[in-house]
Amino acid sequence: MIDLRPIADGVFVARTVPLDVNVTLVLGDDSALVIDTLSTETQAAALHGAVRKVTQLPLTVLLTHFHFDHCLGASVLAGGGRPVWGHPYTANELTERGQHWQSRWHREWLSAEPELAAGLAAARIQPPDHLVRGTETLDLGGRMVTVSHPGRAHTGGDLVAYLPDVDVLVAGDIVEEGNPPDFTDSYPMEWPAAVGRVLDAMTTSTVVIPGHGATVDRDFVVAQQKQLAALDWLIREGHRDEAAAETVAARGPFPIETCRVAVGRGFAALEGGVSDGAA
Ligand SMILES: [Zn+2]
Repeated sequence: MIDLRPIADGVFVARTVPLDVNVTLVLGDDSALVIDTLSTETQAAALHGAVRKVTQLPLTVLLTHFHFDHCLGASVLAGGGRPVWGHPYTANELTERGQHWQSRWHREWLSAEPELAAGLAAARIQPPDHLVRGTETLDLGGRMVTVSHPGRAHTGGDLVAYLPDVDVLVAGDIVEEGNPPDFTDSYPMEWPAAVGRVLDAMTTSTVVIPGHGATVDRDFVVAQQKQLAALDWLIREGHRDEAAAETVAARGPFPIETCRVAVGRGFAALEGGVSDGAA
């Protein structure tokens, strides 16, 4: 059951199970924008049904990044050749390494969520065919949506979407509510600056839709950026002092298992060892 709740004029958000992923639906006069598409074709079909209860407009799809819970439903939502927007990094990961990711994600989820894992392996990958490198304005008819890449952060190709007429920002996983940020494919020492660029574009009353969890405000994003910046500093300082990764992780602002991943990515980047998306 997918419940698209109105959060602003012509803007709807669904929090979904099992991963508490947010999907955002934005209505224009000529088309509707679906931001993120869930993990499997079954989930995406349910989402499509929920969208069709709200609007019959042609759909445009935006993928905030390449992770399965945001993009593997794209083929269902964009059925009939509708545009799929994304960053070139996202397009490349899904085009060149889609099979690698599908088998890895299947392996990771097989014991905890076998049904989800089967759906991940079976999904038809639809990479973005409309690319946003810096900033693009999408015209939905009577409504503009500014889509931009604030820099590498949660992945190498994160995109955020801002709706100026209602002051709503869709942040993808560069902002997380309910769980700590996920550093698996991240750039932990670039992430704080990316969030800073997003904050610069916000007002004090911007409503922020994170990639997962409850809708938040600017203060929440500021607080999370402080944690990210503290972790960035610990990684640089720890690397300089040749501290053990585990010691650095134990001092981090997030749970140790989260910081362990971040420190591993950070140390590898400082040693020139991070190859894009190869964590
Ligand atoms: Zn993600």
